[in-house]
Amino acid sequence: MRLSTAPLRGSLACVYHYENMSVLYGRTADGRIQSKNVLERLWENSTGDRDDECWEIAHAGQKKTGHVRIRLDDKSRMMTHRLAWEAYHAEPIPEGLIVCHRCDNPKCFNPHHLFVGTHKDNTDDMWTKGRGNPPSKLSKEQRVVIASSSLPSKILAAQYGVTSERINQIKRGV
Ligand SMILES: [Zn+2]
Repeated sequence: MRLSTAPLRGSLACVYHYENMSVLYGRTADGRIQSKNVLERLWENSTGDRDDECWEIAHAGQKKTGHVRIRLDDKSRMMTHRLAWEAYHAEPIPEGLIVCHRCDNPKCFNPHHLFVGTHKDNTDDMWTKGRGNPPSKLSKEQRVVIASSSLPSKILAAQYGVTSERINQIKRGV
């Protein structure tokens, strides 16, 4: 079954190999195998259809990270946001890059909410959005010097290339 005959949601049109990827879907009462294209399954079982809202699939394996995996065949699974990015861009995710969410919703597979980047981009994005703390760039020795310094935080921050907030954390022993 070709996806071009199926109702398309938004602009998630499949021109990549998922087009021909029929997967085991279940068995009928008389034991016949039913198969369905993986993208069709994604659309049929999901919520959200506008470009500006999150699209989420129901009844799929959710990982601890919140990402959702969909079954491609008996052996392989793929995370829905990675699948959607590849289907939408009609190319594999460039090697070494990961698919990140602008919307911060790990369940979302709306390709308009996704971008490829490095792990660093992803963590930078997280910090920009106020989640998580950047790892300390400072050595233990530097932290000891900072903690005992009487210089203003602003100056120490400039000296060590970190934020004043980080300096204050170190001074408080965090
Ligand atoms: Zn989203």
